[in-house]
Amino acid sequence: MDFLAIKDEYICIILYMISAVFFIMGIKKLGKADTARKGNFLSSIGMATAVISVLISQDVIEGGILGYGIIAGAIVAGTVVGFIWAKKVEMTGMPQLVALFNGFGGLSSMLVAVAQYCALRGATGKISTDAFTSITLGLTIVIGAVAFTGSLIAWAKLAGLKIFKKNIVIPGKNIINSLIALVAVAGIVLYCIAPEGVLGLVGILVTVIASLVLGVTLVITIGGGDMPVIISFLNALSGLAAAFAGFPISNTVLIVSGCLVGASGVILTLIMCKAMNKTFASLLFKTAKKKASTATGEHKEPKSMSVEDAYLILEAAKNVVIIPGYGMAVAQAQHAVKELTDVLMDNGCEVNFAIHPVAGRMPGHMNVLLAEANVPYEQLKTSDEMNPQMSNVDVAIVIGANDVVNPAAINDESSPLYGMPIVNAYEARTVFVLKRGQGTGFSGIENPLFTMDNTVMIYGDAKQTVSQLVVEYEND
Ligand code: NDP
Repeated sequence: MDFLAIKDEYICIILYMISAVFFIMGIKKLGKADTARKGNFLSSIGMATAVISVLISQDVIEGGILGYGIIAGAIVAGTVVGFIWAKKVEMTGMPQLVALFNGFGGLSSMLVAVAQYCALRGATGKISTDAFTSITLGLTIVIGAVAFTGSLIAWAKLAGLKIFKKNIVIPGKNIINSLIALVAVAGIVLYCIAPEGVLGLVGILVTVIASLVLGVTLVITIGGGDMPVIISFLNALSGLAAAFAGFPISNTVLIVSGCLVGASGVILTLIMCKAMNKTFASLLFKTAKKKASTATGEHKEPKSMSVEDAYLILEAAKNVVIIPGYGMAVAQAQHAVKELTDVLMDNGCEVNFAIHPVAGRMPGHMNVLLAEANVPYEQLKTSDEMNPQMSNVDVAIVIGANDVVNPAAINDESSPLYGMPIVNAYEARTVFVLKRGQGTGFSGIENPLFTMDNTVMIYGDAKQTVSQLVVEYEND
């Protein structure tokens, strides 16, 4: 009996358990803004422990010093690239970076499965494997590949790449997607029936290619208010791919960590669907709506106002609601917004924030920024909490938000946003919209709020405008 191997096996099992505990503690701490940093740190200790345990395991590295050398080189290269990238990225580039990390997670699971297939084939080309291993290997490829290319498309959309700015329509997309999915499954079946020889190889290749294409065709047609839900779904997929990858290579920690990521992604997806008033199936299978009705009646121009005049209205207000959006993140206006909140409250005004679930470019984006600026948690209300009170609000200040306050989501069936709940800013007595110009939001559509009688635009960078408003109070 090889006692050394048995000792290593026990060490691995203990390390796996330790890393799983760190993952669970990390994910718990990630649930709150003030403990999230600690959660990230704990999870990274869990990941380091998992990597060490895999390296110790006898059957992973058979190449001796060369094998360890290759792996050490890969770890150093990955660490350097990841460190520099994460350090350099602007806060506004964070959602894109997260989408890419997610995609690479899917890609690595897919590659693990393909590598395991190659290892099983070995030099002899003969594979002896059970049905469960074959099926989980195939599913890892499908899910990992869809998460990879789907996340690349999500990254391109979040980065605002020109070709993805317009809504892309694939005629008969449900039929096309179903056919591609069938081809991917047929590849797995082929591999399961005849894993050895050319048929098995063809099966794996077909599954890889069809799944990579499926990721593109599934995500490319999705836009506007549906994008956040798809992003959390892709997140869930990359976790599930990792969990499935754990079976063919018999790696417990991969199964545990993949299940944690997959389950939290699924929960987030369901929460997002509920917040957006959608079912997940309607989102995946909905087909393009008839083209938005072209403008009827007179074309109205938005009214604008200077900061000085806006101050006079604001000074008389007793009840103000601030509705932040992606533009606040771009302008990094959160600290100035906190200062405005303070001067408003010093002036005897009640101030609340109405936070839409998909404002910004990642879940919780606005909460994170406002927490960073020390805005008290009790002031951050959801749109559901604030909407019933909106008609009693003196001034709604929309700071760099657009899609999340677009009334077309309520009253224009042809709008891509139709059905998405919004913050009902239009119901306030006066609406100030702070933005730089006539730019559209993420969905790329016009916003009728801007030309309503009770709306005035205050053009300029959100941080500068808000800071100027604060100066007006201080000079008074
Ligand atoms: P939007 O993207 O709809 O609008 C942002 C607005 O901010 C733009 O109209 C822009 O107008 C303005 N803006 C940009 N920079 C500045 C600046 N420096 N100062 C002032 N204004 C600025 O943002 P919302 O938050 O309203 O909506 C979020 C959108 O993103 C939704 O469609 C959502 O579905 C989507 N999305 C959300 C995700 C999430 O998880 N939260 C993920 C993926 C997509 P202008 O150029 O004229 O200044």
